[in-house]
Amino acid sequence: MSKNKSSESVKVVVRCRPLNRKEESNGPAGGIVQMDLRLGQVILRNPRASASEPQKTFTFDAVYDAGSKQRDLYDESVRPLIDSVLAGFNGTIFAYGQTGTGKTYTMQGAWLDPEKRGVIPNAFDHIFTHISRSQSDKQYLVRASYLEIYLEEIRDLLDPNHGSARALELRESPDSGVYVRDLTSCVCKSIKEIEEVMNVGNQARAVGATDMNEHSSRSHALFLITVECSQPGPDGRKHIRVGRLNLVDLAGSERQAKTGVQGERLKEAAKINLSLSALGNVISALADGRSGHVPYRDSKLTRLLQDSLGGNAKTVMVATLGPSSLHYDETLTTLRYANRAKNIQNQPRVNEDPKDALLREFQREIARLRAQLNHRKWRSKQKKEGQSDGEGWERDGEEDTEGEDEGVEVEKEAEEYVKLEEQRLEREKEAIREDQFLLAEEKQRLLGEKERMMGDLRKEQEANEQLTAKYKAMESKLLVGGKNIMDHTNEQQKMLEMKRQEIAEQTRREREIQQQMLVQDDETLELRETFTSLQQEVEAKTKKLKKLYAKLQCIKAEIQDVNDEHVRSRQELEQTQNELTRELKFKYLIIENFIPPEEKNKIMNRLTFDPEEDQWKFQPLVPAESKSSQMKKRPASAVGYKRPISQYARVAIAMGANSRYRAENIMFLELDMTPPNTASLDRSTEAESNQSHSVDSSPTKDRGVRKSRSWCQNPKSLSASSSNVSLSACHTATPMAAQ
Ligand code: ADP
Ligand code: MG
Repeated sequence: MSKNKSSESVKVVVRCRPLNRKEESNGPAGGIVQMDLRLGQVILRNPRASASEPQKTFTFDAVYDAGSKQRDLYDESVRPLIDSVLAGFNGTIFAYGQTGTGKTYTMQGAWLDPEKRGVIPNAFDHIFTHISRSQSDKQYLVRASYLEIYLEEIRDLLDPNHGSARALELRESPDSGVYVRDLTSCVCKSIKEIEEVMNVGNQARAVGATDMNEHSSRSHALFLITVECSQPGPDGRKHIRVGRLNLVDLAGSERQAKTGVQGERLKEAAKINLSLSALGNVISALADGRSGHVPYRDSKLTRLLQDSLGGNAKTVMVATLGPSSLHYDETLTTLRYANRAKNIQNQPRVNEDPKDALLREFQREIARLRAQLNHRKWRSKQKKEGQSDGEGWERDGEEDTEGEDEGVEVEKEAEEYVKLEEQRLEREKEAIREDQFLLAEEKQRLLGEKERMMGDLRKEQEANEQLTAKYKAMESKLLVGGKNIMDHTNEQQKMLEMKRQEIAEQTRREREIQQQMLVQDDETLELRETFTSLQQEVEAKTKKLKKLYAKLQCIKAEIQDVNDEHVRSRQELEQTQNELTRELKFKYLIIENFIPPEEKNKIMNRLTFDPEEDQWKFQPLVPAESKSSQMKKRPASAVGYKRPISQYARVAIAMGANSRYRAENIMFLELDMTPPNTASLDRSTEAESNQSHSVDSSPTKDRGVRKSRSWCQNPKSLSASSSNVSLSACHTATPMAAQ
């Protein structure tokens, strides 16, 4: 990837947690991780290697040892990123590492202890404090979403039906990049509200999993915050900047044992680290810079982080380590992973005036509601004065600078008007009641009219109240700089905060300079050295040779390690492949032996692959678009009939209506068309019994009973030949006649 002016690399920091009680009691071996905080280096000792083997050294943007404070990590490594998000950049922080090394501790920490609050609660504080201290011409809208990826399915943690809800789908738009469709997002007006959102999500996560630790080490959690800020630009128009912050707590990076599992468990095991290995591949492809193709599409996680890795975002990766010698391999893998990620170049830019900014929609809606309220106010004023003097209350809806005060004023005036009107109507009613010249009826009518007018008035007042409530609710969601949220910190505290931030900034810069110097030292060593004697030169060169030799050994060991790792992961992949092949063969066996080939073909023909959702799907039996036309169309051979009939049947029908050729309508639905027989009761009963016996035998007409028409006779002959055509006759006749 070419470095351009606006590109910047992914910041990688490493944090090592203290030894826990169990590890301490395991022996005096102590930790295998050493850290040089000043230089940002991690030195890893191999507990199995001989003392002479050189230790492995990695350099990062910053390192935090067991004694590091949450606050320091935040101020030094996260604060600048959140500042960028507030300025309209996309930002991502993700914690990567083995289970139990402190990913969740770093991201969330212990909420109740101010010293131990992690990145997420500190980011909440930061965002809302920033809003409270910003100028009043800025309007903010803060939204939060929370999701997890478990077994390659995206689940909305804020959805009340989290457990039973369908997995969500990923979509891509040119404006906001890859996003999750139908993801719940909550507008948050204060730290308390956003913390509540986080708690709700955490509970859903805990409820969804029987064993939280097991679950969290297999699922990725993403907390998303969108901060939209509108500010008048030099051109006088309001411009909106949208910063999106992804806070990601990844699944444990350790290898899951895959041996001896089958069926569902195998599928699960294959998917567990799929996201992580896909993430590894994406990082390798990006860090390598030579391979054109970056496999973002291999997993949901990498697609969601597409912008954060090599795209439009500023990214910080926190790699967490455990100091125990038991996990040397995992620690080394984490360090290598982190080391590779350093080389990724992103191209962050400010998201200015995107089409899908919610803030813009909110502003429009608020302006519309205000215009409506103003219109109502104007109307009531007009009514009060009897006639309009065109005072011009209907103003341009876009002007929304005065805000709340005016809303309150409008409401008060409307209330006053309603009260006055009510009093007037009451007075009029009283007058009508007391009027002795009016007739009782007339009185009743007039009173009724007044009553109705009062009803209307109340309805209007209700509508007014509703509108005002909606207006207020909408407006309260927008945070105005320095207005909605109180900043309780006093000047002294503010100064203290600023100083702390300055120190953090200073430390960061110092470290950068130290690292640069270290690199330069190596390069210029040769140039600066002048030798006074041959002996001195030999000594210096021997020293240098030793140094270079050590470096060579390090690199050789590194190559060996990487090869070993490749072999190991290849073996694992082969094993998974073998097991999947076995499973596949088993399924094939079932299909070949137990499913009829025509059924199999039918299913095969209906299968299509949906690349969006990355899975096979069944096509509907009848294509949706042709469904209606297909049902309407009638085969050419069946004009006039409900279904096609054979030539032989037609001939048979022409010869006489033999029931054998009646393909449908076994029951005769047509009505009897002969005039009613009024001869005698006896005769009619006889005729009826005759008819019931001879429904299907044609020569009954002669005996006074008509033959029922066959379903295939010309419907036109139905024409009202009788006087007793009833509604049901119409019913049966109409569709036939229509044919
Ligand atoms: P992960 O999320 O990586 O699986 P956790 O964050 O749950 O790991 O950490 C495991 C345990 O280690 C927790 O009890 C946590 O309090 C503790 N821990 C992790 N990092 C630190 C640290 N830097 N300082 C003190 N305790 C820590
Ligand atoms: Mg965790």
